[in-house]
Amino acid sequence: MKSIINIIKSFTLFELLKGMSLTGRRLVSKKFTVQYPEEKTPQSPRFRGLHALRRYPSGEERCIGCKLCEAVCPALAITIDSEEREDGSRRTTRYDIDLFKCVYCGFCEEACPVDAIVETRIFEYSFFERGTQVMTKEMLLEVGRKHEEQIAKDRQVDAQYR
Ligand code: SF4
Ligand code: SF4
Repeated sequence: MKSIINIIKSFTLFELLKGMSLTGRRLVSKKFTVQYPEEKTPQSPRFRGLHALRRYPSGEERCIGCKLCEAVCPALAITIDSEEREDGSRRTTRYDIDLFKCVYCGFCEEACPVDAIVETRIFEYSFFERGTQVMTKEMLLEVGRKHEEQIAKDRQVDAQYR
């Protein structure tokens, strides 16, 4: 009986028509693709993109050189040197993130007690020369300076989930 059904299906091109009907339905249904880069999909406030180091509104660096982020990083992507300043506070003298090693897990961000290291919404970046994938403290602070407004908003939303 089954083989007869299969023969009938073959002669009536049943499978082909079934496939064509699916194609036809998709032709008129709502499209989910976007024309990147002109169009972009919505981003979560918790998006984990390029890192940034933040400052307080006074201009003081948030990072206190505790090295918790360095310790928690599973990829060993963070390298920190720190020293005591004249006023007794501790600050980093070196803060590097090797973006080739980073797996964008967000652990550094979660471990930081002062919201200094964060991951931004930036994902469109690339490196063309060996060594340029290492983000230095100055580069990270510059990213933080440029995007502080968006970072602060996203951190407020993120705080609801902590
Ligand atoms: S996001 Fe994860 S892998 Fe990348 S630097 Fe932070 S802790 Fe390390
Ligand atoms: S970024 Fe945060 S966790 Fe990392 S050393 Fe600075 S204060 Fe500590």
